[in-house]
This record gives sequence, structure tokens and C-alpha cells, in this order.
Amino acid sequence: MRFAIGDATVDIIVDDDDFGLPLSEFLPGADPELLERHRGTLEPDFLDRARDLARFAIQSFVFRAGGKTLLIDSCIGDHKDIPEIPAWHQRRGSGFLDRLRQSGVDPAEVDLVLCTHLHVDHVGWNTRQDNGHWEPTFPNARYLFGRRELADWMTQHDTGRALPIHARALEQSVIPIVEAGKADLVDDGHELGPGLQLAPLPGHTSGQMGLVVNYARDRAIFCGDAVHHPLQVFQPDLSTSTCVDQKLAAETRKKILAEAADSGRLVVPAHFRGSRCAHIHANGRGYAPVFGHGLR
Ligand SMILES: [Zn+2]
Repeated sequence: MRFAIGDATVDIIVDDDDFGLPLSEFLPGADPELLERHRGTLEPDFLDRARDLARFAIQSFVFRAGGKTLLIDSCIGDHKDIPEIPAWHQRRGSGFLDRLRQSGVDPAEVDLVLCTHLHVDHVGWNTRQDNGHWEPTFPNARYLFGRRELADWMTQHDTGRALPIHARALEQSVIPIVEAGKADLVDDGHELGPGLQLAPLPGHTSGQMGLVVNYARDRAIFCGDAVHHPLQVFQPDLSTSTCVDQKLAAETRKKILAEAADSGRLVVPAHFRGSRCAHIHANGRGYAPVFGHGLR
């Protein structure tokens, strides 16, 4: 799957195309009336109402522009200890790197890896297992981690306050990159290239960052988990049960939606299935996602 933003191409490399979570647990504040009203838009790609399932993809975006290759969010990975999620625990042969190569990108050609935040489904392919060691999967890449994001997680890790699933993600997929000297700690406003800038998107985690693309005619934002599910476009104050600060996450989401509706910016969340991204339409009652941005 591929779409274009100006002269940039974006390939979508899927690591798990049908990850389901109980809607009532993951988005406990979901408005039943909104769910029913928009059921036709949300089913089947994003919702299985009868089974109380919110449906997600775990995927990377490979952004190529100006001769550079940037991989945004590195999904789950293989051989990782994730017992909390059996489908991801000690996976073998998921085929992610084969799909990356099929899109025309060898792992050695990736110049930059950007982790919007350091959750387990955004860091996994940072590393691969090699003779009992975690080695960088992308040997020639610099890995960009938010300075605040990494500092907060390392404090939680070192004081034993991080949940095991988060602590292991750091130990298997983040700390080995830092120890290999491959990590660059970046701040809000960091420029990755012409028209490419990191923006703060706090709330889901404290230091989440998105990639803002401002080209002459095309605009986009890769917004990580600031928008997790299309229902949140219809109900912008709806944060997930995994957001560290649900109120701040809602404020961040409202800013993204308002700006996108106003400017025509394409919104590219980490986990949308279907057309993988959306334009945002403002109407009298709020916002609606407009799917189908030239995916092929
Ligand atoms: Zn995520």
C-alpha cells in the first residue's frame, strides 16, 4: 500500500493488520449514540459492534523524499517477550522485513527511524535477535527518540514503576539502540529535512511527538496515537484507557482535528485500518473523517 504527499511516497508496512481490543475497555467513554450513528462508517474496518471490538492495524510508514528514507514507528518485532499479548509474544517469521523489501527498501537503506513514542507497538523492529543479543535492525540508521519521552520512561524503568510490558519494550527495543550509539535524542521543533518538523503531541504519553509535513501544496501529520481510532474524530474528547493524561490527550487531539479541518492537512494516525489516513471535514456538529486519500 502506498500513497503520496507532494513528491514524497509513503509505503505502509503492516505488522499486524487485525488487532482487536474490547471497545468498552479501551475507549470506555464512547458515546453509544455516536457509535450507532456512525456504525456504517466504522464497520467493518474499524469496529465490530456485535463483538464489542475496536479494530486496529499495527504498521510502519516508510516516508521517502529527497533521497532519504524515514521509517515512522517500528511496530511489534519478532522474538520479543510480550506475554501480555499472546499474538505478539515470541513471534517468529512475521514477514515484516520481507514486506519492507517488497516495497523497495532494504533495511540497510533506512536513514532514520522515528518512534513517535516508546510503547511496545512502536519500537519493536528497532532491534532484531542475533545470537542472543538485540542488534539494530536498521544498521545504517539514526534512531530518533523524544528526549522527554525517553527520560520519563527511563525514570519509570529505573525506579521500578514501569509496567512490565513497558519495561521489557525498553529493554528489548530501546536501550540496545542507545547502548549501540545509534540514538539521537530530539526535541519539539526538530527539523528532519525541508518541510519536515517534529511537533509535541502530549497526553497519550508525556513526550509523544508527531511528524508534520508542510510542502508547498500538500500537508500531513503523522500523529502516532494522538488519534487512535476514527471514533475519536466524531468524539474528540474520547481518550483511551491507556493514555497517561486523558485530558491532555483530548486537548492535543482537538488541536490536530481543528487545524487539519482548517488547512486540509492529511491526518495519518499510527493504527487506522482501511485507507490508513483521513482528511478531516468540519460540519455544524463537529468533525468527520474523509477516507480514501489515493491509496494504491
Ligand atoms: Zn500504538
